[in-house]
Amino acid sequence: MTGTEGTADLDRRLADALERLGHGMRSLAQRTARGHGLSPLQQQAVLALFRQPEVRREVGALALEFDVTTPTMSDAVAALERKELVSRSPGKDGRRRLLTLTPQGEEVARGLSTWDDPLTAALAGLPVADRATTLQSLLDVIAGLQRAGVVSVMRTCPACRFFGRDEHPDPIAPHFCHLLRAPLPLTALRTDCPEYEPATR
Ligand code: SF4
Repeated sequence: MTGTEGTADLDRRLADALERLGHGMRSLAQRTARGHGLSPLQQQAVLALFRQPEVRREVGALALEFDVTTPTMSDAVAALERKELVSRSPGKDGRRRLLTLTPQGEEVARGLSTWDDPLTAALAGLPVADRATTLQSLLDVIAGLQRAGVVSVMRTCPACRFFGRDEHPDPIAPHFCHLLRAPLPLTALRTDCPEYEPATR
């Protein structure tokens, strides 16, 4: 039962809602991946290489990002190479390990990039202020999970060493990025920043 203010077991119900959302998104990802002849992990790797190729050019980086073992990601990448969606080039040590999407891979990535449209369309129905505070709340939860070791890599502002929380006197842009030397509006908090560096705690 909920209390008179409806706050009893609020955390439980929030966790239930997030879990339901996760189920829905996993099922949506499986459908779109299957439609392109990929596994969900292969789909994630293709999209990751498409969005921020420079920070995830090695199998190990992708494995860390998607919380799978290196051999599991290695198998997924090998399958993508067989499908001619990914190629490898030599790194500084001469070993062929830097991953790049082939032109065919980029085409597939473009086709996949709208896979979560149903979610973004549902979110677009919320007022901007609600979306901004929801973004910050979710990123704070993810940063907490990252500190607890549940989520490994998520290149977000609240988990970044350059993030200055509540350091700017403006309710619309209350935070500050010490790398960009600029205030951070809630609506501009990043979920996949190429300049991200992990905070030490
Ligand atoms: S470097 Fe990127 S992730 Fe870090 S605080 Fe600045 S904008 Fe956010």
